[in-house]
Amino acid sequence: MAQYELIDHEFDVVVVGAGGAGLRATLGMAEQGLRTACITKVFPTRSHTVAAQGGIAASLQNMGPDSWKWHMYDTVKGSDWLGDNDAMEYLAREAPAAIYELEHYGVPFSRTEDGRIYQRPFGGHMTEFGDGPPVQRTCAAADRTGHAILHTLYGQSLRHNAEFYIEYFALDLIMGDNGACEGVIAWKLDDGTLHRFRAKTTVLATGGYGRSYFSATSAHTCTGDGNGMVARAGLPLQDMEFVQFHPTGIYGAGVLITEGARGEGGYLTNSEGERFMERYAPNAKDLASRDVVSRCMTLEIREGRGVGPKKDHIYLHLDHLDPKVLAVRLPGITESAKIFAGVDLTREPIPVIPAVHYNMGGIPANYHGEVLNPTPKKPDAIVLGLMAVGEAACASVHGANRLGSNSLTDLVVFGRAAAIQAGKVIDRDAPIPAINKTQDDKILTRFDRLRNASGSRPTAAIRDAMQRTMQEDAAVFRTGETLQSGVKRMSGIYGQLKDIAVTDRSLVWNSDLVETLELENLMANAMITVVSAEARQESRGAHAREDFASRDDVKWRKHTLGWIDSDTGAVKLGYRPVHLDPLTPESEGGIDLKKIAPKARVY
Ligand SMILES: Cc1cc2nc3c(=O)[nH]c(=O)nc-3n(C[C@H](O)[C@H](O)[C@H](O)COP(=O)(O)OP(=O)(O)OC[C@H]3O[C@@H](n4cnc5c(N)ncnc54)[C@H](O)[C@@H]3O)c2cc1C
Repeated sequence: MAQYELIDHEFDVVVVGAGGAGLRATLGMAEQGLRTACITKVFPTRSHTVAAQGGIAASLQNMGPDSWKWHMYDTVKGSDWLGDNDAMEYLAREAPAAIYELEHYGVPFSRTEDGRIYQRPFGGHMTEFGDGPPVQRTCAAADRTGHAILHTLYGQSLRHNAEFYIEYFALDLIMGDNGACEGVIAWKLDDGTLHRFRAKTTVLATGGYGRSYFSATSAHTCTGDGNGMVARAGLPLQDMEFVQFHPTGIYGAGVLITEGARGEGGYLTNSEGERFMERYAPNAKDLASRDVVSRCMTLEIREGRGVGPKKDHIYLHLDHLDPKVLAVRLPGITESAKIFAGVDLTREPIPVIPAVHYNMGGIPANYHGEVLNPTPKKPDAIVLGLMAVGEAACASVHGANRLGSNSLTDLVVFGRAAAIQAGKVIDRDAPIPAINKTQDDKILTRFDRLRNASGSRPTAAIRDAMQRTMQEDAAVFRTGETLQSGVKRMSGIYGQLKDIAVTDRSLVWNSDLVETLELENLMANAMITVVSAEARQESRGAHAREDFASRDDVKWRKHTLGWIDSDTGAVKLGYRPVHLDPLTPESEGGIDLKKIAPKARVY
């Protein structure tokens, strides 16, 4: 048995992750006087949320008429009718309160002439239940909204005495014999010590797993660690086949150009100089939702109308806009275009191509943030002591496709919801869960196995094979053939984990071991993604199958669940029903059910 000493910590709540979701949850817990720890593998303000540019959606009506019902409708339609209606209502209704809260905490939002929070148009956000023109709903702090939110939430969390454990890598969940979560074990990266956090509630806010693909806008730290921990605990991940490609990654670099660029008037052209989105989406045009725009770009390129010497990308024009608007509203991307594409965007178009951007799937949770362990009889059963929020979670508000600027809303609305729920369910007088030797040994044995792994395949080689396979076989367009090839190739690559080589045996700043732990997590995510995608024989949102080109609500309006056998990589699938009932009946002021009934999704 592996011999490691554990340093003990006891809390009411331990939050893993210090991005927007983790910090909002931490702050909410600490504000209520719950003893709260926040563990993070990177410094809080370096979490991927810092890179969010465009903004955060809420129907504030600062720039014209809007309503939570229109926002909910757009989210339902954006999700391609796969989101849970109760959770989507909660998101749209709570968004304004969550934004005003951020404002009061000190987020420096951009302002209108009369001093209100500035809001810009974003893809898929419309007026009049999709029948009217685009709405200005996305609240922005220039094009550095995530940066502003993250810094504010970190400051506020410190003010309320949350305890931060920075540069601690969470290894695995401590799961009690009764199936409840009792905390987490983490490795302190700078001195090599191991820490046991026992808590009444553990909140996973570990972000997405974009790095399972070759070209992604997300940070290298987005490795789906929380999802990996949940999968190893024998719990399922939900709707993993839905991976969002953002239309405008900078060609060659993958760096994001925010949708806010099109919100401010930018448009796409092909090699004929045509604004082709007008042909595909006559109403929303360049502001159709992301899955739609990414597919149209891919089609243009396939049909020979791509730009550049290889005709393999598209142009994004901002050169017609007033340079003052660019300087005030989009300073960050002006810089990115210069650095990563060598383009002066006041004069030239930016070369762009769709890049992996967001994971709609993740840890199944309800709108209180509680993690689900669905069974056929009890599809909404919860796991005691475990919550998940943010991109790691699948609440499910984004369904098959997330609307731009709805993720930041998701982070703060559900980070806050988790804190509210924890305040209700945590018994402050109850004892902290006892030490669970069997679990500790299991976690440390795995850690020790990887630390001493002496196979022949370097971590980087396996990661590269995974990223290329996912990019090729689980892409913007999919077919039975590519997906079957993906399942087969990924199974082979999963097998290589048994032959992995770690060369650094130390415990202090061992980046080789960190990357290996991250790779195991990525692999669990990638396997479930490709198997879930192969099984879903329809096209819905981001999951576009050429062999099953239409949406099939009779057979497939249901959430996929995927369990992985960590040892072999074999994935077992199951399904759970979509929540069709919103929170509020129409008679009590809720949305008209006819409005959110499934129909063709056109923009
Ligand atoms: C370039 C870019 C721009 C975007 N722009 C927008 C936008 O304008 N509007 C919008 O709504 N959405 C946007 N998104 C999406 C949105 O930013 C993300 O979905 C969101 O920030 C995720 O936040 P999070 O709190 O869930 O996770 P993250 O911000 O990714 O944070 C994850 C946290 O978990 C911690 N962590 C992870 N694993 C471990 C571990 N093993 N041990 C300890 N800690 C761990 C990390 O240290 C980090 O603190 C953008 C995304 C990208 C990539």
